[in-house]
Amino acid sequence: MCGIFGIYGHENAAAMAHLGLYSLQHRGQESSGIVAVDRELGARAMKSMGLVSEGLGIPDVQSLPGDIAIGHTRYSTAGSSTIENAQPMLARFRDGHIGLAHNGNLTNASELRRNLEDGGSIFTSTMDSEVLVHRIARSSSDKPEERLADALTGVEGAYCLVVAMGDTLLAARDPRGWRPLVMGKLGTATVFASETCALDLLGATLEREVERGEIIAVDRNGVRSSFPLAPLESRKCVFEYVYFSRPDSQVFGGSVDRARRALGRRLARDFPAPTADFVFSVPDSSNSAALGFAEESGLPLELALIRNHYVGRTFIQPTQAGRDAKVKVKYNAVREVLSGKSVVMVDDSIVRGTTTRGLVSMVRAAGAREVHLRVSSSPVTGPCYYGIDTPNREELIAANMTIEEITQQVGADTLGYLTLDGMLESVPGGPEGFCHACFSGDYPTPPPADSEKLRFGCGC
Ligand code: AMP
Repeated sequence: MCGIFGIYGHENAAAMAHLGLYSLQHRGQESSGIVAVDRELGARAMKSMGLVSEGLGIPDVQSLPGDIAIGHTRYSTAGSSTIENAQPMLARFRDGHIGLAHNGNLTNASELRRNLEDGGSIFTSTMDSEVLVHRIARSSSDKPEERLADALTGVEGAYCLVVAMGDTLLAARDPRGWRPLVMGKLGTATVFASETCALDLLGATLEREVERGEIIAVDRNGVRSSFPLAPLESRKCVFEYVYFSRPDSQVFGGSVDRARRALGRRLARDFPAPTADFVFSVPDSSNSAALGFAEESGLPLELALIRNHYVGRTFIQPTQAGRDAKVKVKYNAVREVLSGKSVVMVDDSIVRGTTTRGLVSMVRAAGAREVHLRVSSSPVTGPCYYGIDTPNREELIAANMTIEEITQQVGADTLGYLTLDGMLESVPGGPEGFCHACFSGDYPTPPPADSEKLRFGCGC
């Protein structure tokens, strides 16, 4: 998963992108970068591994003049976390520069790449996004939005893009609209961001979502919208509401906070825990769902788990032993709250089950008498090919065990997951128009071969 940001017509464009990336940090912590375009000096890039605060300092940003900027925070798939794969990409071709930042995953990238390589193209990264840069450069059109439309024709899968080409800033969203992208105004400047929380930080006002299949071009003549790609059915990612986006954001035109509370309320109705003394969340991603559960059930909400905020989502461990240790580094239980109690623990999702098992055992060690686990999504039974870093089926606990077996495996007394319908009926704009492939197996495109996903996936 990744966060993307773009701004046109601001005298401190790179500084605004820098701020915007801080609020999109939750969408990717492995690398970050900014490309700024100065009309005299041209385009410059600054990229770094790690968090925005670690890698991109104020002096770096001050060395990026210009009134157009794009930015990116990246969370990749395994094995591709290198500086070569940091975005935005910046390339130069016969007609100038192309800066590109991408959120999503292209499902036919390996085929497109092979075609380009057969024609002599050379790649500098293993990212699917680089295919787009080549395809833009090959277009014979001289209008930036037509170049981008040419490049995107025949591209399958998920993309939200911000592209700096010449003196034009472009934003695009794939025809199924998997990932969120909004447009806002900051004075006379035009801003694009994955989530509205980035607009809030800048003091920008939300204008609207970038529509499915839309390309927006911003230049000195103003803002132009076009829909050059064949329309397809809406497939917004329901996991954006469940886990990925920030609760203070509006995504897909709905509030993430309201979505998560509704998921929690539905969970309380469908899987009540009448013997429990209180509810608590696995912070922070489950906070709003636990609030919803508490509101609906009438049970008090307690703070029974404390999260160490300095570990973040970056503490990624390749081994199971490492993942087990990670749970303890990241969370601790409050003995005074839990001792002798029957509790409802609300989590937003179970993927491998490692976190859950570690947390249930931690909560019991702190004295909890009964642990009723409630999950504000359906069982994750398949990988995501559209930008969320979910492991392969073999590692997904719900793909390999029944609910009873999972209950035993994680050590809970009872376990309730939302049903697919319960989840889809709870989110804003539901139940139609969502991608729920990782829960239902209903993939909107042919899945790529796993080896190709690992080799070429940008995983953002
Ligand atoms: P586990 O079941 O141990 O693999 O991890 C489940 C936890 O990871 C849940 O509490 C989620 O909040 C969180 N989570 C879900 N999806 C992802 C993801 N794609 N990347 C990182 N964390 C995730």
